[in-house]
Amino acid sequence: MATKKKSNAKTKATAKSSIKKAVKGMKKVAKSTAKKVEKGVKKVAKKATKAVKETTKALKSSGEIVLLLKQGVGKPSVPCVKKGDKVQVGTLIAKPQGLGANLHSSVDGVVSQVTDTAIYIKAGKVPIDISKSKFKRITADKKDLLACVAEAGVVGMGGAGFPTAAKLNLDLHGGHVLVNAAECEPVLAHNMAQLVQFPNETIKGIQYIMKITNAKQGIIAIKQKHTHEIESILKALKGIDNIRVHLLPDIYPMGEERAVIRETLGILLPVTALPSEANAVVINVETVLRVYEAIEFGRPAVSKNLTVSGKIKGINNGVKVFYDVPIGLKVKDAIEAAGGIDGKYGEIIMGGPFMGKPCKLDDPITKTTGGIIVTEPFKDYKGAKVGLLVCACGANEDRLKDIASKYNMKVVDVEYCKQAKDPKGNGVYKCENPGNCPGQALKCMNIKKAGATEILISNCSDCTNTVMGSAPGLGLNVHHATDHIFETVGMPVQRHLTKSKFIEGPIPEGCTASRNPESNEPGGIHPVQVHHEDSAKGTSSNVDYSKPYEFRENTPDGELLISIESGSDISIKYE
Ligand code: SF4
Repeated sequence: MATKKKSNAKTKATAKSSIKKAVKGMKKVAKSTAKKVEKGVKKVAKKATKAVKETTKALKSSGEIVLLLKQGVGKPSVPCVKKGDKVQVGTLIAKPQGLGANLHSSVDGVVSQVTDTAIYIKAGKVPIDISKSKFKRITADKKDLLACVAEAGVVGMGGAGFPTAAKLNLDLHGGHVLVNAAECEPVLAHNMAQLVQFPNETIKGIQYIMKITNAKQGIIAIKQKHTHEIESILKALKGIDNIRVHLLPDIYPMGEERAVIRETLGILLPVTALPSEANAVVINVETVLRVYEAIEFGRPAVSKNLTVSGKIKGINNGVKVFYDVPIGLKVKDAIEAAGGIDGKYGEIIMGGPFMGKPCKLDDPITKTTGGIIVTEPFKDYKGAKVGLLVCACGANEDRLKDIASKYNMKVVDVEYCKQAKDPKGNGVYKCENPGNCPGQALKCMNIKKAGATEILISNCSDCTNTVMGSAPGLGLNVHHATDHIFETVGMPVQRHLTKSKFIEGPIPEGCTASRNPESNEPGGIHPVQVHHEDSAKGTSSNVDYSKPYEFRENTPDGELLISIESGSDISIKYE
């Protein structure tokens, strides 16, 4: 046993040194690529108006708008127009039944078809800038802020699609409005562009939401790396003392709802809890802008900001941001407006690299579409055996199976991250502590035992790092669900953690930050332990992620001990 321990120590030391080398190399690549992408985003933000005009031009050639009756959470809305009806921007075309949202025409034109799932409109004229063009205003009294949001049909534009009026219909008794400006999905850039183009409008939107919910404080959660956008928002916040900026680290998934609450308020809610249990609402930054427009101009939610990237002619690994794309515009029109597909491609993704889903060229953009990414063709792994490791905050099991089949891999095992929970038993998973790894070695061992040579994962940054601590050592080739996308746009693939899980360095005035609880640096908010009891179920949970993590499991070969002492230092011992 002593000899075994000695040899294990040696292996650990060797692994440590090669990891150090790899991390150093990756840091260098990451730095230069991040610079390239950032440069592209800034360039695009400046040219946004031109880009919107291009969208209009492209739409003329397609000419048809498809408005899905289900644009978010809830039942599909019920049409209130019929074939042949003339509509204009803002005409109410479908109403919700129960939980849901109003749907308005995003163009002037004639209804050409009404089906069980969508309303088709032959577009007569497409506005170049919808916010300034003529549109049918909502009729709600401007003083009734919540009624304006409801009539305008605003839903969560970050991807969730929860009806905003239902979300805001609560009294926070002086609590917090948490604005999710994490733009956590890599590649997407339209939220950051908004903060530079419309900082004052965004802040007015937050103030309206604070008034609706009776909140005392607003907090804008944004990644520390977005210095230009932070500057823009801090400038607009001058003289406003009840809204502050909170800096987030650049790891995935900082934009998950409970991660935003944990980072900004230091409260870790159980997966069954709503943000109101922390006396807060979490709202996406574009949704805030739509709330502002509904109240200020009586403007219905008829458009979406959008990032287009990937294998697009002339885009050079950058992105194109389009403001106010009419909802219902076809994916192919947005791609054409951005430059058109450049040669052969693998798939078109609607959304971001982690959570996005493949779509078709004729699919319409909805109120929750944030990105369109065209990828390189998939590599052929010639039937290699693969095990899947599913994360609650990344690609789900179906999506991982879809990617495995596109890679021509044969799935031999499916494992879930230990923290991925399905509280309602409906296949919708949530993470118990987003972005803080519970250990993945046992899952990797199961996949190895199933006979796999490959492992395809959808894990967060921290858990991917942990997979890298065990899978290669077990002889498994690691693939992440985002690999083909990152490779397309020239970003380093997701593997070892090359960034801190906490904010380091000075914090600008007007900001707070997610600090390492052990650092004792001033000015930050430290995440804390939260005890939650569910009296109905007789259960309780108690999580303290400020302490080092240890995981023990009896295996057929003895006891497996995984201990994580800091964000990127992992040791595995067999005893
Ligand atoms: S801890 Fe697990 S479930 Fe949670 S974000 Fe990371 S991989 Fe996903």
